[in-house]
Amino acid sequence: KTLSVPYWFIQMAINVNLEEVDIYGFDYDYTLALYSDSLNEMIYNKARQFLIEHYKYPQGIKKYNYIPNFAARGLHYDIQKGLLMKIDAFHYIQMGTVYRGLKPVPDEEVMRLYGGSNHVPLHQVSGFYGKGPKMKQFMDIFSIPEMTLLAAANDYFISSDIEYDPVHLYKDVSDAIGMVHIKGYMYKWIMQDLEKYILRGDETYAVLHRLASNGKKLFLITNSPFSFVDKGMKYMVGKDWRDFFDVVIVQADKPHFFNDCMKPFRRLDSNGDLQWDKIMNLDKGQIYKQGNLVDFLKLTGWRGSKVFYFGDHLYSDLADLMLRHGWRTGAIVPELEVETKVVNTEQYARSLTWLQALTGLLERMQMYRDPESKKVLQDWLKEREELRAITKNLFNPQFGSIFRTCHNPTYFSRRLCRFSDLYMASISCLLNYDLSYTFYPRRTPLQHEAPLWMDQLCTGCMKTPFLEDMAHIR
Ligand SMILES: [Mg+2]
Repeated sequence: KTLSVPYWFIQMAINVNLEEVDIYGFDYDYTLALYSDSLNEMIYNKARQFLIEHYKYPQGIKKYNYIPNFAARGLHYDIQKGLLMKIDAFHYIQMGTVYRGLKPVPDEEVMRLYGGSNHVPLHQVSGFYGKGPKMKQFMDIFSIPEMTLLAAANDYFISSDIEYDPVHLYKDVSDAIGMVHIKGYMYKWIMQDLEKYILRGDETYAVLHRLASNGKKLFLITNSPFSFVDKGMKYMVGKDWRDFFDVVIVQADKPHFFNDCMKPFRRLDSNGDLQWDKIMNLDKGQIYKQGNLVDFLKLTGWRGSKVFYFGDHLYSDLADLMLRHGWRTGAIVPELEVETKVVNTEQYARSLTWLQALTGLLERMQMYRDPESKKVLQDWLKEREELRAITKNLFNPQFGSIFRTCHNPTYFSRRLCRFSDLYMASISCLLNYDLSYTFYPRRTPLQHEAPLWMDQLCTGCMKTPFLEDMAHIR
C-alpha cells in the first residue's frame, strides 16, 4: 500500500546523520498512536459533567457545548486574571489573542492589566515544565478540552454576572480534567472503538517495520498502562508487535523518569501482574514498569547521539533528554499538517507578500510629514492591521498559528526548537528519508544579514504586481 505522508521539518544546531543512529525510542500516546479530534470533545463533556456533579458548579455551564478549534496548543493562561493568551518567544503577549471566557479583551485593557505594557516579566511566565505560580502553559494531551472548558465556565460566570474566583475555577477545571485521566475514561473510550479514535495506524506499522528490518533497535517508554498500549499496538501493528521492540517500559511516570534515579524497574508478567524480582537486565519480550533513565542507560548502554527518541510532549518527553543526556530528539507536532497546508495556500502567500511590501513602504514613507503623506501612512497602517488579522485567521480565528505571532516565533516555537533536533507532523514522515540521510541545518538570515524590502524597492528590483500598483505613490 502506498502511503502519502507529510514531510518533516528540521530545526537543529548541528547535522543529524541517521546513519549514526542505531537505536530508536518512542513515546506512545500522540507519537506512535495519533488520536482523532473527537477525543477532545469526549474529554470536555466528561470534565464538564464532573465540574457540575462533583464540584457543584452551576447547571448553566451544561449549555456550553464543546467548541472545536477554539483553543490551540501552547497558549498561556493567567490563573488570577482568568485570561487565555498567546505569548511570543520574547515574552510579549500578542495583541488580539487575549481571551476572557469566550470574548477577546481589548488591547488597551490588556496593557492596563499588565502595568502599561504587553510584556510579561520572567518571574510571571510559566516555569520550566510549563507550570508557574501565576501562568500555566497548556502543552499536554488534555490541553485543548481543558482550555475550552475554562473559557466556557469563565464565560458563564461573566455573562451571568456572578461573582467568582478565577483561581478556584482554574483549580477545579484542572481537577475535573484530571479525573477523566485518573479514572481511565480516555483509555476506556479508545479501547472500545479503536477504529474511531486511532489515526494513521498503518503508517506506524510501516515505520516500525522499516526500522527493525534495517537492523535498528527499538524501545518504547510510555506513561500509559500495558493493557491499553497492547490493545492499540495490536490494532495498528499486529499481535506480534512486541517482536519489533527490544525494550518496552509502561507507566514510566515521565518526566520524573528522566530526572529521578530512585524508582527501580519492575517486571510485569503476561497477565500484567507486578513481579517482585530484582531487575538485572532489560530483556526483549518482557514488559517493565516505572524505572528511571539512569538505570536504563546503565542496563542498555544506549547513550548519546546514536539514540533518537520521539515524543509529542516538549517538556515531559524531550526537554531533559536534550538538555542533560544528549540523545537526539524528534518532536511530533500533529498541528503541522494543517498549518503547512495554510502556509501553502495562494491566499496566505499573497497576504504575506503584501504585508511585507506594505511594511517596507511604511518604513520608507514615514519620513514624509506633509498632511497628504500622513494620511497615506494612516491608511497603510490600517491596511497592515487588517492583513495581519487575515493571515492570523487563516489558522485559528482566536489565536492564529501555534508557531508564530506577527513577526516572532511563539513561546511554543522557541521551546520546540530548543528541545528537538527534528520536528514533524507524525513519525510516518520518517518514511520519506533513507536511513542514511543527513539533515543539514538551514542557515536563516539574522536581522543585519537579511535584505531589506525598502532597499529593493529603492533600486526598483521588485517587480511584483502589488508594487507596480503603488508606483503612483513614489
Ligand atoms: Mg505522548
